[in-house]
Amino acid sequence: MRQKLQLKGDISLSQSAIQRRNSNQRQKSPIQGRRLFQSHVIQTPLSQQYGQNQQQIQQSQQQQFIQGRSYSQSNVVFNEEVPQKWPIIQLPFFKNTEPTIFFQYPPVCEDKRPLVNARPMTEEEIKKYSLTCKVLGSAPYKCVLTSFDWAGFKRIDEDDEDEEWNVQWGIGNKTTLRNMNRYQKINHFPGCWNMGRKDLLWINLSKFKRKYPKEYNFIPNTYLLQYDYDRFIMAQESAQKDTLWIKKPCADSRGRGITMVSKKSKVKKDKNFLIMDYIYNPHLINGFKYDLRVYVLISCFDPLRVYMYKDGLVRFATQKYSTNSKDLTKRYIHLTNFAVNKLSPNFVKNQNTQKDDEGSKWSHHAYRKKLDELGIDSRELFNRIKDVVLKTCIATEPFMLDSNAKSQEHRNGYFELYGFDVLIDENLKPWVLEVNVSPSLNSSSPLDKKIKTSLISDVLHLVGVPLWDKNNQKISSPPKYNQRNIKEIPNINTSNCLNKLSQNDFNMLIHTVEEVKRRGKNFSCVFPNPKTIHQYMDLFEFPRYNNKLIERFYQDRCNWLSRFN
Ligand code: ADP
Repeated sequence: MRQKLQLKGDISLSQSAIQRRNSNQRQKSPIQGRRLFQSHVIQTPLSQQYGQNQQQIQQSQQQQFIQGRSYSQSNVVFNEEVPQKWPIIQLPFFKNTEPTIFFQYPPVCEDKRPLVNARPMTEEEIKKYSLTCKVLGSAPYKCVLTSFDWAGFKRIDEDDEDEEWNVQWGIGNKTTLRNMNRYQKINHFPGCWNMGRKDLLWINLSKFKRKYPKEYNFIPNTYLLQYDYDRFIMAQESAQKDTLWIKKPCADSRGRGITMVSKKSKVKKDKNFLIMDYIYNPHLINGFKYDLRVYVLISCFDPLRVYMYKDGLVRFATQKYSTNSKDLTKRYIHLTNFAVNKLSPNFVKNQNTQKDDEGSKWSHHAYRKKLDELGIDSRELFNRIKDVVLKTCIATEPFMLDSNAKSQEHRNGYFELYGFDVLIDENLKPWVLEVNVSPSLNSSSPLDKKIKTSLISDVLHLVGVPLWDKNNQKISSPPKYNQRNIKEIPNINTSNCLNKLSQNDFNMLIHTVEEVKRRGKNFSCVFPNPKTIHQYMDLFEFPRYNNKLIERFYQDRCNWLSRFN
């Protein structure tokens, strides 16, 4: 029997409401109460713009997900100037699914997010959906505040327990996590430290390294001094005389407490430290060592959804590279941390966003250009980076799901922006040195500011903050997960999917597709990616129903949702 399928979400806005909003060009900003439109902004009524700009509409339809198949009922491209800081609704691409909040780029990004399938909120809607964020910490990152501000969010006090927030930026305590509802988002997963602490990362990855030594040879061999002290001493004694290691605190950052270790060094047993093989042959640019800060967004662990940001930072050491034993204590040679090198007399600050290959910090964009000049295939290198990033996520997935198990209903409520530190060696092999849970979003230069503000705006746009009428909207109870038979998945196809899939299955697939569509031009989808998903499925410790279903969905050419829509 055909199942009755219904998706949540009841938000619709009449065309006349949009026009009413347009006719009132001198409205106040919902956030700051000041005038908000640039002098003469909206010149054409939105209604006239429906059906206009056919070329743009066609282009966006051509970029349709995977098969070039259009699920969208109205891929309307609005052509107007964007009102400043005015809340905008990102309409879903599927009928009857939930709209989300559109994140406008603040001016520092020097870019505009295209208003495709999006429209400004009416004044009534602004009141109804009052958008609020809670940003924890006494010195919050400016790029986070600006991104919220430009999307029309009001910041509420950290200690305010009464007012409901749409998004919390900052690690949530147990009560917060327990009381979260399905309209709320928080930027950390419970258990995020499984990847973010150096010792836990090694514990998780080494397990996979033993199982798949070839696939997992991208993390340097590591000794946790608490457990592996004797093993390290033996390795040190039998090593060749010029062998090097690097000793680091398990849970610190910014280069603090890091020292180089040679065959002659005396190492004490200290449970707070680990020792890692030193990658002695880094790829150099102009004679300097560098590493890459790669931003990786995980929006869900079940199904696993991983995105990599196209831009990021390249951090250079400030003294020419050498492995000479006299230079072993020179941190400006061996460490590439900004926090270390900014103190060096040779540190050169970037002053201009247009010159992103100047100074001691570059953008990935400039780095790729440099590689291409050197005759190195930068595309191939970044594909290798994607590969190691994804394998890292797959290795931590069982631990993350374990930590998330008690909060299954919040499957889509968490997201995490990780900062991967990747070192490239002279053979152009990427090594994962560590993963940062709260990568620094401080901006020390205009280039930093531009990259980081665009990044945060893109993260929030991608994860999709749903509209929530805090006064009236009934909070639905979490979906019940019925027994699902993973063995049935290979038999699902376009003709039987309506019978075989549950509403939860369809919701999950639609959510996945909608999210990919919101990723914009800066995020690439690492997983689930239709082109590469098969390559990685066998690496997962346990086959998961949702991942398998997505794989099958891609394999069957993604036609299921057109039946559903
Ligand atoms: P922190 O969290 O303190 O930044 P990292 O693990 O990122 O610690 O190490 C700091 C810097 O030390 C890196 O940016 C890199 O330049 C250098 N480094 C760390 N591990 C290695 C290694 N195994 N081989 C070579 N250089 C390393």
